[in-house]
Amino acid sequence: MKKNDLIVITGAGGFIGGNLALYFKKRGFNNIRAVDKKPLYEWCLRVPGVTNLCFDVSSEENCKRVCEGAVEVYQLAADMGGMGFIERFRVECMRSVLINMYMIDAAYKAGANRYFFSSSACAYNTLLQQDPKVQALKESDAYPAMAERGYGWEKLFSEMVCQEYWHERGMKTFMARFHNVYGPNGTWNGGREKAPAALCRKVIEAIDKKDMNITIWGDGTATRSFMYISDCVKGIDMIMHCDKLIATPINLGSSELVSVNELLSKIEKIAGVKLNRHYDLTAPKGVAGRNSDNTFIKKVFGWEPHTSLNKGLAITYKWIEQQYHTGNAGSL
Ligand code: NAD
Repeated sequence: MKKNDLIVITGAGGFIGGNLALYFKKRGFNNIRAVDKKPLYEWCLRVPGVTNLCFDVSSEENCKRVCEGAVEVYQLAADMGGMGFIERFRVECMRSVLINMYMIDAAYKAGANRYFFSSSACAYNTLLQQDPKVQALKESDAYPAMAERGYGWEKLFSEMVCQEYWHERGMKTFMARFHNVYGPNGTWNGGREKAPAALCRKVIEAIDKKDMNITIWGDGTATRSFMYISDCVKGIDMIMHCDKLIATPINLGSSELVSVNELLSKIEKIAGVKLNRHYDLTAPKGVAGRNSDNTFIKKVFGWEPHTSLNKGLAITYKWIEQQYHTGNAGSL
């Protein structure tokens, strides 16, 4: 990549897309087109020196405009959120298939060299995730397919689209299956936030309101791994520029498994409090356990996402606390 080659990032008003724009900007790329359908004032990050455009990329016409002149395309736009969102709004999740069809086709027709698709661990067979002491998921575990209804099936289908654009049309496509990403500049309120941000906010609220009670979704035993955002953007860059991984889905996630109860204990320790826990067994909770098997990524790069939860959560907690008290999201 030359420093003035055009990099297009869709979903750039969101958490990962915004951080990816910042990552490339910091590495000296000076022709970055960031695209999102949200109005600019709602973007998680607005990176100085990046061209920010408001376009809905579920329209074929818009995708053509967005991809004009692109050398690399990073497709991170999706209608998504935490379990509360993806269990309640399956139709919206599945409609992201339009974004993925139109974007890959527009990138191909624009002659882009490389195309990145943000897939998800929700593409994995849910039958393998029924025990909190889960066996970590390796790439081959997506088939036979029994993905998360709605969101997961959309990801699995869109992965296949990427594979066929390589096999039939020769476009270099890359796809990472992200496992829960967290960090500063992410969604922390409003219903789309995921467990780490939601729990940080609830602890901050409890302290602020001097009400030392907290409600946890589920019974607290469900397990997950959480990847810090800086590992995620570095991993995207490595995957996109590795020809061994053309048309080959790969896990991009941490392998540090914790239960929701343990996650909360870590946040309480950072905040210096102990709360009375109440469990809402009727709330959406997703699969019982999910972890990333990082054998493949370690084999390819000799690297895996490694920022510890203790370190990443401390930074994230501090950022959410600041947002809670000042409401400054979006500024840099
Ligand atoms: P996010 O919700 O913060 O960002 C997604 C962005 O896409 C939003 O800003 C949204 O406005 C935008 N968008 C949605 N529909 C659009 C459209 N039609 N046109 C233009 N923009 C549109 O989510 P994120 O956490 O940054 O996730 C980015 C990608 O990574 C998504 O594809 C998501 O499915 C995937 N992913 C994320 C996680 C995670 O833990 N955050 C885990 C697995 C996969």
